Amino acid sequence: MKKSFLLFPLQPRFSRACRPLSLLFFFRAGRIIRDMKHLLYLNGKPIEYTLERKRVKNINLRVRGGEIFVSAPRWVPRSVIERFLLSRGDMLLRAAEHSAPAEARRWVSGERLFYLGRELTLFLERGGRAAVRPDGSCLRVALREPDDPGSVERAVARWYRRESERLCRAACDILYPHFAALGVPRPEIRMRSMRSCWGNCRPERAVVTFNALLAAVPEDGIEYVAAHELTHFLHADHSPAFYAALAQVVPDWKARRSALKEYAPLLF
Ligand SMILES: [Zn+2]
Repeated sequence: MKKSFLLFPLQPRFSRACRPLSLLFFFRAGRIIRDMKHLLYLNGKPIEYTLERKRVKNINLRVRGGEIFVSAPRWVPRSVIERFLLSRGDMLLRAAEHSAPAEARRWVSGERLFYLGRELTLFLERGGRAAVRPDGSCLRVALREPDDPGSVERAVARWYRRESERLCRAACDILYPHFAALGVPRPEIRMRSMRSCWGNCRPERAVVTFNALLAAVPEDGIEYVAAHELTHFLHADHSPAFYAALAQVVPDWKARRSALKEYAPLLF
């Protein structure tokens, strides 16, 4: 549901994961820029951070490519946000040190992408009909114009969406009988590019929406997301009852959830 399990407070190891994972920046296209940069002094050192005001419940902090990003609800004063940042000061400095500047994605052979938690190397070739397929450690993309980055980007994005849909549907098919026995109607499955979560659920409309990038994460992560969303048909919130119900289908949901967090930078 809305309170995303993917809101991650600062975790320094993300910064390393970010580099290879900062790949799919194209999902940020069309984003309205309303971020403001601010300066904060940490142990006398000026630290710049980007503050984004949006409809979130918490103050969220993340470090990407050496930059610090904070999102906060509109009503939280800057002083409160900065107190929160200072309370994470040490972690913040450490994380910023470990992150390298994000590299711009280049849609050329040799670029790295993730598929089912494995890193694949993009391999472009000329071909009559557009085709994308994983082949060992490669992601082979055949296109009439393999030198056109826009075409490559679109072909790869389409492939991710298709693969994500196939995998999400398969996960739901496996999990659904358990929920059907509890009276849950079979939901409609939708795919969407989302920046803040892997999935969401609208029980009142019997719709589950999955992130079109979900194929990047390991299969048990996909299953976890599907189980999480289906469990919302039983409990709308993230109460202990929700997690107890989730544990019925995915007993190791905690481990899967934390493994999934490694892939969170893909969303931003
Ligand atoms: Zn949820």
